[in-house]
Formats: sequence, C-alpha cells, structure tokens
Amino acid sequence: MNSSCAHDSNAGKESQRAEEDAAINRSLSRIKNKLLVMSGKGGVGKSSLAVNLAAGLSLKGYKVGLMDVDLHGPSIPRMLGIHNQTPLQHKDGIYPIPVNDLLKVISIEVLMPDKDSPTIWRGPLKIGVIRQFIADVIWGDLDFLIIDSPPGTGDEPLTVAQTIPGAQAVIVTTPQEISLSDVRKSINFCRQVDMPIMGLVENMSGYICPHCGQKSAIFKKDGGKRTAVSMKVPFLGSIPFDIQLMEKGDQGQAYLLNNPAPAVKEALDGIIEKIITSADQSQSQKKVLQPLTEVLPTMNAINATSNSVKIAIPMAEGILCNHFGHCEQFALIDLQGKNIIQKVMVTPPPHEPGLLPRWLGEKGVGLIIAGGMGQRAVSLFNERGIKVLTGAPQLGPEELIAQYVDQTLITGDNVCDH
Ligand code: ADP
Repeated sequence: MNSSCAHDSNAGKESQRAEEDAAINRSLSRIKNKLLVMSGKGGVGKSSLAVNLAAGLSLKGYKVGLMDVDLHGPSIPRMLGIHNQTPLQHKDGIYPIPVNDLLKVISIEVLMPDKDSPTIWRGPLKIGVIRQFIADVIWGDLDFLIIDSPPGTGDEPLTVAQTIPGAQAVIVTTPQEISLSDVRKSINFCRQVDMPIMGLVENMSGYICPHCGQKSAIFKKDGGKRTAVSMKVPFLGSIPFDIQLMEKGDQGQAYLLNNPAPAVKEALDGIIEKIITSADQSQSQKKVLQPLTEVLPTMNAINATSNSVKIAIPMAEGILCNHFGHCEQFALIDLQGKNIIQKVMVTPPPHEPGLLPRWLGEKGVGLIIAGGMGQRAVSLFNERGIKVLTGAPQLGPEELIAQYVDQTLITGDNVCDH
C-alpha cells in the first residue's frame, strides 16, 4: 500500500469517527442525567440494580431510558421480559422499546446475530460496535439514562465512559473482600478517566427470609459502606439478598414494579432518593455556573458542568491560524477532564458566511480556541452554544490545550477587524 492510500484511509476513519461523535452528541444531548452502573466484576447485581433504578425512577414520574451495553452478557431485555421484541429501526437510528409510559429500554443485543450463541467480538470491533450502538439510539427527551455498562475496568467500560460525556458512575459491589478489592479498582478507574462518582451501592447485604420477610446478616455486611468511607465516595445504600428479586428477574419482571418485599423496596427507594438529590444538585450547579463559563470557559468551569468538551482550533501549517475563516484545517480535540482523549484533523468545507458555526456545531464542538475572529462570527457561534476564546497565540494544538488545561493560556487581542 502506498503512503497516500494509508493517508486517505486514515482521513476516512477520522471523518467517520467525527460523524459518529456528532451522532452520539445528538443522541445524548436531550438527556439531563446519565448514570453508568458499573461493577468491578460480573455477578454482583449490576444489571438488577440498573433495572430497578430505572423502574423506580419511572415510578416517581421521571422519563427514563435504560441502555444495556454489556456485549458479553446483555441481560436487561430478559430481566424485563422484552427479549422477544424487536425495536423499531429507522433510517436515522433505533427506537428503544417502551416498557411503560415513562420507561424505554434498548440493548446492544439488537446488534447481535444470534441472541443465544456466545458472540466473540475482538478488540477494536468491540469498541466500534459499542460506539455505533450508542450513536444509533433515538432517545428524545429524558430525565435519566441508566446505562448498564460491561463489568471490570478494561476496554469496554473505558469505551462506554469515554463515549458518554457527562456520565456519572454508580458502582455496585457485594460485601465480600474479593468484590471490594475490585470495587477499589473501579473507583480508581473513574478517577483516572475523570468520571464523577455518584456513589457506591452494596448489594446482597444481609438476607431476607422468604418465610417471615425478616432481614438477617448471614453474609458479611457493610464492607461496601466502609470502602466508600475509606475511598471518600458517597455511599448510596445497601440492598439485601432476596430470593424473590432473583426469581422476578428470571421471570422477566422488574422487582420494584411487582410487589417487592418491604425491606428491599425501602432500600431501593432510599438509593433512588439519594440519586435524585445528587442529580438535582448537579443540575443546579450547571445553572449557577452558566454565566461564568460564558465569561471565560476555564477548565474549572468545564469540569463542573460536564467533564468533557470537544475543542476546535483553526490550523495552518501545523499551528493555530490567526485568520479563522481562512484556516486549512481544524484540529478537533476531545478533552475528558484534563486529558486529551483523541485529536483529529478535519478539513472545513469551502468558506461561506455562516457555514462554519453550523458545521462545527454538528460535530459537537463546545469551545473554539482561535486567534482572530470577527465579532459577527463570535456571536453566531455563541448562538449555537459554542464558546469562543480569541487572541490565542500561534502554537501547536497540544501546546494550546496544555496551557488551557493548566489555566496558563494567555489570550491577547482579537486581531481580526471585520
Ligand atoms: P451482574 O449484572 O453484576 O452480572 P446480575 O444483576 O445479572 O449481576 O445478578 C446476578 C444474579 O444475582 C441474577 O440471577 C440476579 O437475579 C441475582 N441478584 C442480584 N441481586 C440480588 C439480590 N439483591 N438478591 C437476590 N438475588 C440477586
């Protein structure tokens, strides 16, 4: 293969990825709160918790989506008895299946050739399938999206965490030490990818007697609570082991919607209340911080509203191009917390007034670091919710981002006078 072919195929991949990013942003932009239910290992009750959180939030009147992204064990459709239903597929994407008026569900199972045979996905393919799936689902307006993510701290949860900007983690564990050591890894994983942790849930904590309904502590308990305290993570509550919860799951019924034992209902309600309070707090923080981000979108402001942003830098000859409208390319940089997750170079369409704000908006750009830019263009970007820093120095994109992240980026005069 000659070098120009390799170049073309890289450019093709980059533009496909940029299109996918734009589709993901479109699909997720109308969702207020995104919760990623995670666990250090399988079998601790992650999917059961995801189902019951979603059901419980819908019972309280919230519009909820539940998305199963666990490639190796998509169990949510079975737990809700909808595994034989086929979601509506449209040229623009896939519609989730309604469970009740307020709750809709989709599973990555819809992309699987045969639901009952084990599917072997290899590395990059797995990541591609997860990204494509997240981009394709048409949610509409939601208060909460609950995502059942793959267990562990490998490529799959990493892809989910990086693909869903603004998501917060709910981590599930059981009280045994083996599970607690995994949960510490999950907490560190969230910290590394700068994903806020809404809290920790201890599942199978104590036992509900099927005869008398009383709770007894036949297993160890409170290990999750102690881990939460020692790792400085909010503790959301404990759910007892209840054979009915397991049976309802096997029968395809969400336990919270089908006569749960009072002790389990109380436990789940308590966790849901804490989640609602925490989500309300993040929403009101967003509102308070809005004017601040408009004045100067510093790293702090962006971190507080969502921990990721796509930044566009106009480029010519490898450095920032002072004349915005005449740049050769844009560097599009995905920043998660303080880390660059990916950088792609894209060529803008031929210059036409008003075109770039729409084009960059469709790519999901939230901030532009520019040299000179006309006031009219600044206003057009702002109208689309894209913030603009002007007067930045003519440096390479990585250097500009490093200065921006460290809050040492000095923006001088906007040298564009038209
Ligand atoms: P994961 O998603 O972590 O792999 P699941 O939610 O699939 O775990 O749960 C594993 C098994 O444990 C399922 O059979 C489920 O019904 C059962 N289970 C989960 N939580 C409880 C609980 N609190 N009481 C009883 N059974 C439970």
